[in-house]
Amino acid sequence: MVMGEFTQETEVLVIGGGPGGYAAAFRAADLGREVTIIDQEGRLGGVCLFRGCIPSKTLLHVAELITETRRAEEMGVTFDPPRLNIDKIRKWKNQVVERLARGLMDLSKNRGVQVIKGRAAFEDSHHVRVQGSDISRFTFKHAIIATGSRATPLPGFEEKRGGRIMSSTGALALADIPERLLVVGGGYVGVELGSIYASLGSRVTVVENNDRLMTGADADLVQILVRQLTELFHAIHTRTRVTSLEEREDGVAVTLEGAVDEPKQVFDRALVAIGRNPNSKDIGIENTKVSMNERGFISVDEQMRTSEPHIFAIGDVVGGAMLAHKAMHEGKVAAETLAGEPAAFDYQAIPAVVYTDPQIAWCGLTEEEARSRNQTVKVTRFPWSASGRAASLGLSRGMTKLIVDPETQRILGMGIVGREAGEMISEGVLAIEMGALAQDLALTIHPHPTLSESEEEVAEAFLGSSTHILPARK
Ligand code: FAD
Repeated sequence: MVMGEFTQETEVLVIGGGPGGYAAAFRAADLGREVTIIDQEGRLGGVCLFRGCIPSKTLLHVAELITETRRAEEMGVTFDPPRLNIDKIRKWKNQVVERLARGLMDLSKNRGVQVIKGRAAFEDSHHVRVQGSDISRFTFKHAIIATGSRATPLPGFEEKRGGRIMSSTGALALADIPERLLVVGGGYVGVELGSIYASLGSRVTVVENNDRLMTGADADLVQILVRQLTELFHAIHTRTRVTSLEEREDGVAVTLEGAVDEPKQVFDRALVAIGRNPNSKDIGIENTKVSMNERGFISVDEQMRTSEPHIFAIGDVVGGAMLAHKAMHEGKVAAETLAGEPAAFDYQAIPAVVYTDPQIAWCGLTEEEARSRNQTVKVTRFPWSASGRAASLGLSRGMTKLIVDPETQRILGMGIVGREAGEMISEGVLAIEMGALAQDLALTIHPHPTLSESEEEVAEAFLGSSTHILPARK
């Protein structure tokens, strides 16, 4: 400590104001705790609001509008080709983000949560030093580490700010619409951002190391999306690696190794979306007893306590599903635990959604996980070609699948590919959390005509008789 330095005391100190951090802070405040959040950006929302979920979904909606106007032609409505005003699109996206950011600051103010702008690092297990703030040192009763994650750079190829090689943050800034865009990484971030640019007019090439895109989701769901992406993207190269990436005056020169005809290509921009690393370095972890695994993810128990019982960690920095809703739930568990409430992060199903066209959503056990664990499951599929609602929307390319324990008939997993899959998956999550049987879903009356009926019908099909598809031959 520096002589004469003021140290502010706070009951709960949250480091990082992303969805995990602010959800934890708000819950702790609602439970009567005195809370301070330190975020280096001085505002709440984190990656999700400023560089992730919200800007990407706002732009994906613009992309969907463009696709829908083209699709309308089949229905007898012809629109002129869209005229894009990139400045206005960017402004719209920024306005959406700013409105939500203001809302979060109001919520924290009205709850009496103090938000401090600065970079925090542990000095020891009971003190945090803050750079860039008038209050340079805090002592706390409980701390919650919610510092999130950052994009993993392609080894050996550093991103230059404003350069042609971009991370998702650069891509979402939407500086321009490059004529030729290379997307390195066929996970959900690469595919979502590639879809945005392709819809806005870029010629998009996706390169993926694995033998298919989005390896976390079942192959049959991904296959339906890939059929659509093959039309949208210029090329998808799986089993392919980028071995060199050089930023030049006229573009990004790339060497590809794998199943490609042209190993040397030039693009106007390259987006690197190969994963995310935890923000656990440079936060003074070494000055505490908090432990991390070899990849830098902080180790926690089911109350989100680290190896120091009064220090918690939540969200992307602890790993697992690096998703905002997981971070928020963990945040609430940490807040409830430190407030003395009984709480645990003990979920059966964390949903995942890919907001492409069509969307993919899944929860619980996937068919491939069941196979790799040698677990016997019964998988039933309901094709959307049998759905009246899908037909009326002109969106018959879709499927709802159910993964059920054949012994107990308990629902273990659900997967959906198609329009609004992300909205529909919550029913599967609820079914799994409630320990529902396939019969519970089949006996729940769903409104007609809706896409959600496919969830009732897939359960009926599991039981042997679904109204709109023929029973499987015995
Ligand atoms: P973060 O959101 O990363 O927030 C951490 C905060 O801590 C940041 O504000 C950071 O500035 C601050 N910070 C870090 N270190 C310090 C320090 N030393 N001192 C002070 N402050 C610090 N998830 C979904 O669920 N749905 C989606 O649709 C989705 N889309 C995504 C799209 C993209 C392009 C990306 C990149 C991510 C997306 N995600 C999505 C993932 C989601 O953004 C993250 O899972 C989520 O933001 C994690 O929340 P968090 O609170 O753990 O951390």
